[in-house]
Amino acid sequence: MSTKPHILLIYTGGTIGMMKDYASNALKAFDFSQLLDKIPEIQQLNCHIETISFENPIDSSNMTTKFYVDIVEIIEKNYDVFDGFVILSGSDTMSYISSAISFMLENLQKPVIFTGSQLPIGDLRTDAKENLITSIEVACAQKNGIPIIQEVCLYFEYKLYRANRTTKLNAEQFEAFVSMNHPPLAESGVYLKFNEHYLLKNSTKNSTLIVRKELVTDIVILKIFPGITENVVKSILHIKHLKGVVMETFGSGNAPNETWFVNLIKEAIENNIRIVNVTQCLGGNVNQGHYETSVALKKIGVVSGKDITTEAAVAKLMYLLNENFSLSEFTNFFEKPLRGEIS
Ligand code: ASP
Repeated sequence: MSTKPHILLIYTGGTIGMMKDYASNALKAFDFSQLLDKIPEIQQLNCHIETISFENPIDSSNMTTKFYVDIVEIIEKNYDVFDGFVILSGSDTMSYISSAISFMLENLQKPVIFTGSQLPIGDLRTDAKENLITSIEVACAQKNGIPIIQEVCLYFEYKLYRANRTTKLNAEQFEAFVSMNHPPLAESGVYLKFNEHYLLKNSTKNSTLIVRKELVTDIVILKIFPGITENVVKSILHIKHLKGVVMETFGSGNAPNETWFVNLIKEAIENNIRIVNVTQCLGGNVNQGHYETSVALKKIGVVSGKDITTEAAVAKLMYLLNENFSLSEFTNFFEKPLRGEIS
């Protein structure tokens, strides 16, 4: 058997494989086989590529967690036969999807690279070709027969990021993603340069892949804004079956310290709702207790998200809620890095 790396390309949908529907003038996903016809260049790469596509490719806005399970099941089924996986998806929710997949794949020792594009692959000025070709090269990269990347990443516009550190920042520019609290894992110029120092090294652990498929979706993102009312906060925290809240606060984790607000949060925690404090700022850390406006939050059991992104916090909350941990166990797991998602 040839020693060339075997790569599985998984197409889920997104702009990369879309075409204009002339009736509605809107972009719509099209058949994956046509996508490969559009980039014959990938046949020249030094690897074997097999492809698999969602039966009905979708816009990533329609990606519910059921589709996350479909993706991890494809990886699980093909894990032993392929050296790496490249997942094409829409960029709009790519940070959410890829963050979730990073938690769902425990002890991952092979590359799982998400990519997509801002312009469809058939467009003359498309960014899809470079994104796809370099993602495949990243998935192929090995050192002494061991994959260099052993985690879930996102590749876009010359940069490889740890997926659960990313946020989509721009709806128009080719450089659509940022990773404010973690440096890129690789940069592609004339050479593809890996920042080896920052990579997760799971293959040093003697462990096999565990695939987690249960995510709890009874959660909400509560973005605090100046002037938010008691009625609004109360209505959100009283949502039926609510299990968890990603609370987006100001600066280093600050929120109003008015009695009504603190009491509502306290009551929710007492009712077994896990509340995670994440900053609205793109970069930096939550540091509860640093200002008077976060002292009470810490005291009543709000969990610090530290420097996690909102996207990764949503994923981690969905993942950990399934374990039915006590508040102190949950806090302990949430506040430490499980897949490199916090510093
Ligand atoms: N709406 C598209 C999606 O997220 C945008 C993209 O692919 O970049 O599926």
